[in-house]
Amino acid sequence: MNKINPFESAMTQLTKAATVIEKTTASKAAKKSLQQKMEILRQPKRTVNVTLPVRMDDGTQKIFQGFRVQYNDARGPYKGGIRYHHNVTPDEVKALSFWMVMKCAVADIPFGGGKGGVIVDPKSLSVDELERLTRAYGRALADIVGPDKDVPAPDVNTNGLIMGWLLDEFIKVQRQKAKSFGKKLSKSDEQRFRGTYNGKFIKDGGSEGREEATGLGGLFVLEAILAKLKLKRKLTVAVQGFGNVGYNVAKFLDETGFKVVAVSDSKGGIYVPDGINPALTLACKKKNGFLAGCYCSGSVCDLRKGKQVTNEALLELPVDILVPAALENALTKENASRVKAKVVLEMANGPTTPEADAILYKKGIPVIPDILSNSGGVTVSAFEWEQNLKGEHWTKKYVNAKLKAKMVSAAGAVWNASVKYKIDLRTAAFVVALGRILAAMQ
Ligand code: NAD
Repeated sequence: MNKINPFESAMTQLTKAATVIEKTTASKAAKKSLQQKMEILRQPKRTVNVTLPVRMDDGTQKIFQGFRVQYNDARGPYKGGIRYHHNVTPDEVKALSFWMVMKCAVADIPFGGGKGGVIVDPKSLSVDELERLTRAYGRALADIVGPDKDVPAPDVNTNGLIMGWLLDEFIKVQRQKAKSFGKKLSKSDEQRFRGTYNGKFIKDGGSEGREEATGLGGLFVLEAILAKLKLKRKLTVAVQGFGNVGYNVAKFLDETGFKVVAVSDSKGGIYVPDGINPALTLACKKKNGFLAGCYCSGSVCDLRKGKQVTNEALLELPVDILVPAALENALTKENASRVKAKVVLEMANGPTTPEADAILYKKGIPVIPDILSNSGGVTVSAFEWEQNLKGEHWTKKYVNAKLKAKMVSAAGAVWNASVKYKIDLRTAAFVVALGRILAAMQ
């Protein structure tokens, strides 16, 4: 799935949007300034590589490699998740950090973009080993993160528990630093420092609604774009990926009248024509360890109600909406021509290569781009950061209402740009984002 270099794809997307902006730039001086800023945007500001020695349960030591890419901070502190994956590469993290710059600008939250990664299969570690690895990574990052510097959050294979360990290490390091100057951290400093990591459990200063924010934001964006496309509800949906994002988007779509007929995870997928019950399916998957056989529709799981599908076949099912919510490069030039959906809602980061984008555009299939559709997560992360800085705790109703307003506004801006410049939604999202980033890069 990951042979295509995602950073090259990201730069192709950037060039396409820059060409649109250049056409509307009149003076020579403005054109020169644009070119200079584009040059800056073609590489990250800082990349930090870390070596993480971890004591394993059997007493041996294992060395893990990690990174943090701080891509651009013109609009505010770097912001972006931390991915634990055995195949994570520096170029993947670089691409993800670049997309974060764009995403925060589309969502219009006061952040730049960054991303972190550790090369590890977390499922191969015990909980204690995972904690020691995470704490080592947290210590290694302690000098370069902070509420005004860089604000990480969960991504693939990381969650609130991991964010809590990372925050704990960060605060420990800050206390030690203060002690070495004969000082103690003030209460307000301790409070502010909680804003360093987002996606925490509520007890650690997390926000209501953060865990499901990416999925809920995806629903708000989809509804806004479907209204523009004049497509009604009762549409069928296939979701690739059944983790935080895939599960939550399936749940919200199901609750609001869509019919989710297929879901998958790394081990394969299921197709249930009557419509999947996401909560029952998740419970069944947890019990069995895999999705196969979890043909749960309405209030029962019944082997006669569905069948297994491969991840590849899921992408080509005859559904109205296809939701890639797993990893990069799911839709490529190899399979894009076989996509039958009317709309693609990108919930993963970078699931469609530029070649696949062109094929889908030619087929008249709108792709709602990742930097718009999955920006709900980072938006509620920004709310969590704001609550931590102000020492507040907002209700879920308030968080979700604020999220909806942000998503509807972002979707409207992207739609308007696509109409104005007669461009696809991804290029439109990049044009909206670039306009805001370039203005901040004075
Ligand atoms: P997760 O670890 O909770 O879930 C990932 C899911 O993808 C799992 O179900 C896994 O089995 C599945 N998967 C892995 N490889 C697969 C494959 N080859 N085919 C099909 N399924 C596969 O991660 P997540 O947080 O849900 O993130 C999923 C995607 O959404 C990633 O691209 C991530 O960058 C993006 N994203 C996450 C957030 C967030 O808030 N967590 C926000 C924005 C974007």
